[in-house]
Amino acid sequence: MNKETICAVVRDLMPSYLDKITEGATNAFIEQHLTECEACRTVKRNMMKITSPAEQAQAEFLDRLRRARVRRARRGWAAAIAVLVVLAPTKKWYLAMLLKMQSRQLHVKLAERIKNMLKK
Ligand SMILES: [Zn+2]
Repeated sequence: MNKETICAVVRDLMPSYLDKITEGATNAFIEQHLTECEACRTVKRNMMKITSPAEQAQAEFLDRLRRARVRRARRGWAAAIAVLVVLAPTKKWYLAMLLKMQSRQLHVKLAERIKNMLKK
């Protein structure tokens, strides 16, 4: 094989090599060639920058999941506010909620203080 053919073969195999689905002998062949061919090393570098279709699909999936989660959280807040506005009829109820929230914060603060005391 002349060098041009070897380069062509190496570049054809490169995506599979980068996905680690080539065999040991093939890997050795590619790696040997990469040590002596700057052009193919450049090809490899450029291909590594491009994510594989599987990785791209995964990234898109995660992105979609994240966006759905944000939407759901927003909807959750909207529902909570709607409940507060529509279903809470009295000032007393608001006050009770407020007190409950404050007492929870107090509990957290107390717990932190106790934890810190135990640390010392
Ligand atoms: Zn080459």
